[in-house]
Amino acid sequence: MAIIDLNKIEYVTLYTGSNGSNGCTCKCPCCSQRKKERQYQGTLEQAISMFESLPNMKQLYVFGNPDITVDTKLCHDIIKEAVRRNIHVCFSTSGIGGICTLKKMLNDIPCEMVDYISFSFDGITKKDMSLFKGIDYPMEKALAGLDWAINNGYTVKVQPTLWFSNYTKVKDIIEYFVNKGVKWFTFHIGSLESGISLDSHKHLTKEQIKEVHYQIECAVQKYRDIKVRCPIIYRECGENDPSKWYCMHPERIKELLIIFEESGIKATHTPMASIYFDNFSFYLDNIPDIKPLAYKNFCPISKELSGKDDTCCRYISKFWNY
Ligand code: SF4
Ligand code: SF4
Repeated sequence: MAIIDLNKIEYVTLYTGSNGSNGCTCKCPCCSQRKKERQYQGTLEQAISMFESLPNMKQLYVFGNPDITVDTKLCHDIIKEAVRRNIHVCFSTSGIGGICTLKKMLNDIPCEMVDYISFSFDGITKKDMSLFKGIDYPMEKALAGLDWAINNGYTVKVQPTLWFSNYTKVKDIIEYFVNKGVKWFTFHIGSLESGISLDSHKHLTKEQIKEVHYQIECAVQKYRDIKVRCPIIYRECGENDPSKWYCMHPERIKELLIIFEESGIKATHTPMASIYFDNFSFYLDNIPDIKPLAYKNFCPISKELSGKDDTCCRYISKFWNY
């Protein structure tokens, strides 16, 4: 039995409610939050209670409910409270609202306390972005927001999610954003957990992920000052090290995903596994013994994640120039 020690938690990723994609400003066809049925908007009181339960938090990464463009004022108030407690902050955004959203978010927040702003651009044209976000995407406005953040001294990263329809464009995406001044890219491989299979949004095969890594290699050779992270979720990665896998070592956890729910402040140390196993989630005010999963060479939920039972941990990534 292992118990998560809240005093050891340094990093928190936060959903400020449980609206799911129904309440989002975008309608991404394969949103990982799609299955959420209940609608609930969290509160500042819950945030304060979270901060008090986690006295050694160093960094808060805010998603919003489910994006900061939905409940921008609350997200701002929460990061302001974090900064007051000397906790560094960062957040991701779909780019909706452009400069206006960023100014609301960052009002009164010192630049040096913002570790980064992550923009989820999955493509470089309005047409591609409209396909991925499921709306008539305001590309110009979103790009103006990115420019504004760079020009105002914030560290930005671009975080594209890769699917069948954009995995061959990785080099173009990097090139386009490098020319705008971006030096940091963190790729996602499409949300298996959305449970939806569209032709345009098929999950990548092992060969396709290798092709993605090859394009990143070429870009890193060309632009030597960029850093890139990309998941490895296939077998021959050479980094098959179960000692890193959270599900097997809950007592080592330094990071939690937290969701404000009507019933309380819910947390998990293994966001993927918690989708399939209820006993991987808990309330901050009532932490049960967490039974580590038995030691295995491959991810214990890889069948659910990829349809195969021999993939590596979803959280293991390959890094370039980190
Ligand atoms: S912006 Fe994020 S939360 Fe909103 S629909 Fe898209 S993937 Fe889902
Ligand atoms: S992706 Fe699989 S191996 Fe990695 S933490 Fe989750 S359940 Fe464990």
